[in-house]
Formats: sequence, structure tokens, C-alpha cells
Amino acid sequence: MTEEKMEILLAAEDIEKRICELARTISDDYKGQKILLIGVLKGAVIFLSDLIRHLKIPVEIDFMAVSSYGADTTSSGVVRIQKDLEQSITGKDVLIVEDIVDTGLTLNYLYDNLFSRGPQTLRVVTLLDKPNRRKVEFNPDYCGFAIPDEFVVGYGLDFNEDYRHLPDICILK
Ligand code: 5GP
Repeated sequence: MTEEKMEILLAAEDIEKRICELARTISDDYKGQKILLIGVLKGAVIFLSDLIRHLKIPVEIDFMAVSSYGADTTSSGVVRIQKDLEQSITGKDVLIVEDIVDTGLTLNYLYDNLFSRGPQTLRVVTLLDKPNRRKVEFNPDYCGFAIPDEFVVGYGLDFNEDYRHLPDICILK
């Protein structure tokens, strides 16, 4: 593994605290309902795993994979489904779980795609948001942290598949 320069942006304990808050809000908003969480592979895996353990409502989980940056740190603007859901979402209360919203292109596409399948409700929770980088308007319903325009890794987020295991979220220089 190459030595890159790292700077901690969000420490593990702050992430955990914020996820507990998010889980409380989501549990309150969906009280009495069962929700289907759709994790966007691979970056959102750790966030989803931690989030569901704090939810107080029944959940199902499924996953989708869409094309993202690959080996580059700039968005290609091309979104493609690489792995689709294993079930129908028609009539279900669906919550998309994403690691980070950057240009908004991925979620804009994913939201429209899933909406066309007829869920009862469709919302988005993202752990991180870089609102200054939007190319298309997209507002997540729930957001962990708004962060500056820096490339971050750790807590599921990678650079060339490295660094996903880091417990903190770090700026990669
Ligand atoms: P968007 O379509 O909103 O530009 O990008 C969403 C996807 O880009 C995320 O799911 C993530 O895979 C990737 N991405 C955007 N910003 C970052 C970042 O700072 N770090 C990492 N590791 N991935 C990012």
C-alpha cells in the first residue's frame, strides 16, 4: 500500500455519535412501519451496518451497485447499474443508504430509477454531503455531516479500493 498523506476529518467516536442521532430520527419518522434499506455498494456498507444496529424499527436490507469514479477522483457523469435489487420495491417504504453525495449525479439517477418502480415512500440518508460540488440539484432527506470539498477515505470510503477499513474519515492529500 502506498503512503498517502492523511488528515482526520471525522473521528470514529464522532461518527458513532452522529449515527445514533440519525437512527433515532429515522426510527421516530418511520414509527410503526417496516422499512427496506437499500445500501449503495460498496462505500455505504459500513454506514448501513452501524445504522441498522441503532434503529428501533423492523428493517429489511438489499443492495445495489452503480458505476462510480473507478480509479479517478473526478466524476465521469456516467451512471450505470452494475448490480440490481433482488426484490420488488413496489408499495414498500424505501430508504436509500449512501456514503457520500458529491455532484449528486449518482443519487439523482438512482432516485428516479427506484421511484419509477412504485415504492410507497422513497427517501435518502447519506453519511456525508459535499453540497458545494453539486452538478444537479439533490437534497438528501437525512445527512450525517456536511463536509468541505476534499476527497475523503475511511469508514467504507476508498481510493482505488484502499482505506475502506479505516475507522476515522480522513482527507486524502
Ligand atoms: P456523485 O455522483 O454524487 O458525484 O458521487 C457519488 C459517489 O462518488 C459516492 O458514492 C462515492 O463512491 C464517490 N465519491 C464522491 N466523493 C468522494 C470522496 O470524497 N471520497 C470517496 N472515496 N468517494 C467519493
